[in-house]
Amino acid sequence: MNEKMITLGKKRSVIRELFEYGKKRKALIGAENVFDFSIGNPSVPTPQAVTDAMKRLISETEPVALHGYTSAQGDFKVRRKIAESIKRRFDVDADPELIYLTCGAAASLTVTLKALINSGEEVIVPSPFFPEYKVFTENAGGRLISVPLRRPDFQLDIDAIKGAITDKTRAIIINSPNNPTGAIFSEERIKQLAAVLEDKQKEYKNDIYIISDEPYRELTYGADVPYIPKYYGNTVICYSYSKSLSLPGERIGYIFIPSTANNSGEMYAAVCGAGRSLGFVCAPSLLQYTVGECTETTPNSEVYRKNRDLLYGSLTDYGYEAVPPDGAFYLFVKSPEPDAAAFCERAKKYELLLVPSDDFGCKGYVRISYCVSTEQIKKSLPAFKALIEEYK
Ligand code: PLP
Repeated sequence: MNEKMITLGKKRSVIRELFEYGKKRKALIGAENVFDFSIGNPSVPTPQAVTDAMKRLISETEPVALHGYTSAQGDFKVRRKIAESIKRRFDVDADPELIYLTCGAAASLTVTLKALINSGEEVIVPSPFFPEYKVFTENAGGRLISVPLRRPDFQLDIDAIKGAITDKTRAIIINSPNNPTGAIFSEERIKQLAAVLEDKQKEYKNDIYIISDEPYRELTYGADVPYIPKYYGNTVICYSYSKSLSLPGERIGYIFIPSTANNSGEMYAAVCGAGRSLGFVCAPSLLQYTVGECTETTPNSEVYRKNRDLLYGSLTDYGYEAVPPDGAFYLFVKSPEPDAAAFCERAKKYELLLVPSDDFGCKGYVRISYCVSTEQIKKSLPAFKALIEEYK
């Protein structure tokens, strides 16, 4: 047996651990009495257009065709529709032959990292970061180099990133809107990052890629999310419909390589090879056809906005410190004691399930996933108030 895999299998992520704990508590005292802010499972229903498209496909398509294998990189017509949508929305050139359909962002990332990384190469990741980046990077043979985001606004720290780049740096993973901070990286910062990477590519005569992990692209509350290929050629977009169309259990997303990337054809071949070597075969066919019908469907993020305003407003009133999130559905709150895990344990007394920031590569914060019902947030507020009172 592979020791690394045993360790990974035995030690669940802290998020999953808490999610499982929440399930047990709910069975014991009733779901309505547990304030479960642990996991990023969208609470907004899947848009009707998506359900309608699925029903139509099931009732009107010949089953063998509907459920059969597609091309490994995904059905061509679906890829063409996605390419058209990218062109229309972001005003960048998009070639369906450089789009690869995946089982969500996790698969987009594992395939991309496997495609780009050679053993021992480094992947810069601004921290705090989605904990699975470390698992995916190491599985591809790479080393994750964590570089803290700037405080207090959690924007990219360009000087720190510049200082971390070496001749072994192969990629930087950018996630905006960000999990866990809710920050959107500004256009100014993206331009500065692009300039630094261009210089470093010349200095080391190497390609350095931006891997843009974008499951939250559409979940924003006003600020624009810069589209990275407009600023930097050597980019790979890792997209997912999990959050935007509330489909996380169905597993569907894509990888998009802009034609401005150096040797984009070779990169695409590497992506196809990585998908093959990881045994993905093809993304789920029904879901491919469904998203092909729904490229213009946008999420209804009004509930998330309402939750964000209510939670941020109330918690800061009570004395918690947090940065107002611009997107995604997470609030990143400073722990009132240095040990965030100890604070989260104390929160459990009030049936509040919060995720300590340690596994996100950063100490002293907690993540609150506010993709729950607004009722649930209202009901949880006295618990948050009582919890912070313990520290006064
Ligand atoms: N990347 C980030 C930043 C996430 O937050 C998540 C899921 O929460 C993923 C990737 C994986 O998403 P998917 O369900 O599309 O695999």
